[in-house]
Amino acid sequence: KSAIVQAYCEKTRTSAKLAEEARRSIAGGVTHDSRYLEPHGIYVERAAGSRKWDVDGNEYVDYSGGHGALLLGHNHPQVVEAVQRQLALGTHYGSSHELEIRWAELVRDMVPSAESVRFTSSGTEATLLALRLARAFTRRTKLVRFVGHFHGWHDHMAFGVGSRFDGSASPGVLAEVASNVRLAPAGDTRGTEQVLDRDDVAAVIIEPTGASWGQLPVLKEFLVELRRMTAEREIVLIFDEVITGFRCSPGGAQQVFGVTPDMTTLAKILAGGLPGGAVAGKQEIMELLDHRAAVDLGSEKISHHGTFNANPLSAAAGVEALRIVSETDACERASTYAQRLREALNEVCQEESVSWTVYGTFSGFHIYTNPEGQAVAREQLDAGSYDPMVLKARPRPKLLMKLRAGMLLHGVEIFVWPGGPTSCVHTDEDLALTVEITTPDVPPEDTA
Ligand code: PMP
Repeated sequence: KSAIVQAYCEKTRTSAKLAEEARRSIAGGVTHDSRYLEPHGIYVERAAGSRKWDVDGNEYVDYSGGHGALLLGHNHPQVVEAVQRQLALGTHYGSSHELEIRWAELVRDMVPSAESVRFTSSGTEATLLALRLARAFTRRTKLVRFVGHFHGWHDHMAFGVGSRFDGSASPGVLAEVASNVRLAPAGDTRGTEQVLDRDDVAAVIIEPTGASWGQLPVLKEFLVELRRMTAEREIVLIFDEVITGFRCSPGGAQQVFGVTPDMTTLAKILAGGLPGGAVAGKQEIMELLDHRAAVDLGSEKISHHGTFNANPLSAAAGVEALRIVSETDACERASTYAQRLREALNEVCQEESVSWTVYGTFSGFHIYTNPEGQAVAREQLDAGSYDPMVLKARPRPKLLMKLRAGMLLHGVEIFVWPGGPTSCVHTDEDLALTVEITTPDVPPEDTA
């Protein structure tokens, strides 16, 4: 074990014990692939604002941000109060309720493409439903997605990201499913156009700030071109704003870039820290979910169920969170903090002659830990075009694990990208601490 990992293990003994116990009842010991950490992750006991505390009493600045859901930080007092109010009235009615209307109205009023809304219980379900709607609407089969862009883990989207950039099916996914999904190169208009012309395409889905939340950014110009190309071919354009929605701005990335897709998928911030997702979009497409309209259109209604869709607790948290996002400068504050953090960390890298690059857009930061990645990241930001294979230049898993463990050892939790989302409640002290602990004081063998 390296010195870092050893020290981390000593500091997190109770977490280590729980991780061992977890393996006996939880498959693989974790409940989300990204929470896997070697030799073990931390077990969290409580959280507040920008911080969380583990079972050994260690305090951390949190950049996992509830996988991106916590733009407002942990336990925002107004959100907590709204949830507590609802808790006393019931957690789950299995009936319609007024809060879901207020929630949908907020989405409709904030997100430019949202003429109508349907709630789901997660982002994965949202992209699944959006793609089904697009296929039914266009009566076409093929879907186009971009290399490295993440859209959840259902069969249609379970490859072309993380690995399998050739578009082949990952284990458990039917080859027929994969063969109906084409991979296109984001940022490359001509390359994308070729993919769109190969088949009759039902839908194109994209993360509007780039692969895995801007790890490989796309520029506004590409989005404008994509809008043109899809409109010309009557292809449904879906912006997956599960991460960027209510984060880049109250109206998401589409509002900032001034490009309006046909449909938008939402989750995370949408539900204020509780589970929830949504599909929003053009009335004529969303009508396929309408019992009355679908009959009038002479088409069969699209099937959509979900026990916990728009459950009252998520709705209460969501309504409160969206109100705060729309009425305050929460998005701006989170973005400003991220920008300061990126600049400060790059200064450290330069001062210490470490060939890492910290970059990102809006309220996010990514750490590229190898020179290849660094060069491409720079190129990316300058030109907005890239070789998708660069995703392979991500830090090696071992280094990534060590980086995360090393940051935890010093009181900062970053996410697996590596990097993380920032919130509107991160403070100057959080920034100072993050910068201080990132100063490499590790022996050379630990940075390899
Ligand atoms: N789309 C994007 C862009 C995401 O980042 C995620 C989750 N990280 C999803 C979809 C899936 O959302 P969920 O985890 O709620 O299923």
